[in-house]
Amino acid sequence: MNAEKHFNPSALCRDESSRRLVAAAYEMIAERYVLARHQIGAALLDADGATHLGLHLDAMVGRAAVCAEAVALGVARMITRAPLVAVAAVRFPKPTEDEPARIVPPCGLCRELLLDHAPDLAAVISMDGIARRVPLSTLLPHKYVGTKWSADVAQSPPTSAPS
Ligand SMILES: [Zn+2]
Repeated sequence: MNAEKHFNPSALCRDESSRRLVAAAYEMIAERYVLARHQIGAALLDADGATHLGLHLDAMVGRAAVCAEAVALGVARMITRAPLVAVAAVRFPKPTEDEPARIVPPCGLCRELLLDHAPDLAAVISMDGIARRVPLSTLLPHKYVGTKWSADVAQSPPTSAPS
């Protein structure tokens, strides 16, 4: 099966910004896919309308791997302090898999990380074959709240570098 022929963001997404994010994540991973190295691409939308891409980095030792969403978050924060609005990720199939690419939700670690940096972030997830935008916080009830950051920083990440 040709993954490109069967993955259609326009058919999956009902709103234009989700379609753009899913298409951006898909196009990047379709171009950068390498078996056992890069399988997922992510796209992160900021409040200024810019899209920041991230590529999953697999590793020999599984826990050393870095998710595409985490890479996209780092890329976004290198470029802008604008609030982050929405994230989407697409998994590209292995050559042995007879299935198209698919939208994947953030893993548990990424839910924690993304919500630490963007409490109001939405995630584009697939439900019954349709992409829907949901508040990421609904995918991680009772999120961990530590004492490392003050409560106001945890609620609203700093918008400028500390002086
Ligand atoms: Zn993850």
